[in-house]
Amino acid sequence: MAEDPTLNLQEICYDLTQAGINRLKSQIERNPVHSNWASQIGHPCSRYLYYNRVNWRDRDPHNFVLQSIFNEGTKHEKDTIREIQEDCDIRGWSIVAQQDRFYDEELQVGGRIDLDIIIPMDAGEIQTLPCEIKSCAPHTWNAIDTQEDILSAKQYYVRNYYDQLMAYLYMHNKEWGILVLKNKITGLRKYVPIRLDYDRFTDTIKKLEKLNENIKNKVPPDRLLDFDVCDECPFKKICITEDIKFELPKMDNDLLLQAITQKEAQKEAHKAYESAMKTIKEQCSRATEEQFTVGDYLVKRSWIGPKQIPSYLREGYWTNRIKSLVEKKKNET
Ligand code: SF4
Repeated sequence: MAEDPTLNLQEICYDLTQAGINRLKSQIERNPVHSNWASQIGHPCSRYLYYNRVNWRDRDPHNFVLQSIFNEGTKHEKDTIREIQEDCDIRGWSIVAQQDRFYDEELQVGGRIDLDIIIPMDAGEIQTLPCEIKSCAPHTWNAIDTQEDILSAKQYYVRNYYDQLMAYLYMHNKEWGILVLKNKITGLRKYVPIRLDYDRFTDTIKKLEKLNENIKNKVPPDRLLDFDVCDECPFKKICITEDIKFELPKMDNDLLLQAITQKEAQKEAHKAYESAMKTIKEQCSRATEEQFTVGDYLVKRSWIGPKQIPSYLREGYWTNRIKSLVEKKKNET
């Protein structure tokens, strides 16, 4: 019987996908941090900002998906800047100083401004507006039209944009700047005017002064302990230790404790089950027959989806039903 070419192709495609993932993994880096990053100063947890500088070695490396998102951003950066220049052309504005680095000695804040937009005024005067470009998901893109919308965003990392832009304005003595928001899916851009919010940045300055004092004295600030933020925190391994139970209100409920303990005990078994299911799916996809035995098990594969076109072109998926032949025999006797 002639070998099914799609089988080989499936294996090759799997290897190619894996090669891409491995390449991304090899690009993940963890670098020393010597200053407060402007893009992070709005982070709701000062302890995170402290760890970022003092304990950067303990940071959990980001995963390959995030690395891929970073790479995509870098790949499209030049095109986005070119398109922004084309947008600015209609007003006779130009853009300069791309990726201009700055460092504020006193607050120990460093950053890199994506670009400056140069606006010629009537009297021949020139205004320079610092401009930050952010790519975001469609729902975030739809939700932001003004600088107030940034502050009321649900995601803390979107709210971070606000303080980042304030740092740019304050440290460059500017009243106005622009946030360019790019929709990750459609590629559409929107321009949001940003004005220096002096009161807000005064609070940020106080926060940074306190943080720098903590860093100097090697005393970690209080924990935020907001699990929406902590769950994603790359320092949770060193931060969320047993002593947090003394910082939070206590509830005495034996039934709840028992249920949570049981659930935790099943975690490893659940992981093993998920991993076995993944292997079953992968290995069954290599089968040449729709029904076969392996050891004491009978496997029946069924295609869910249209059947008239070759399997590697059609939309659908295989399901695998597995029956133990041993149990079957027992039942029959
Ligand atoms: S785990 Fe939570 S409290 Fe600890 S540093 Fe991270 S965000 Fe802050």
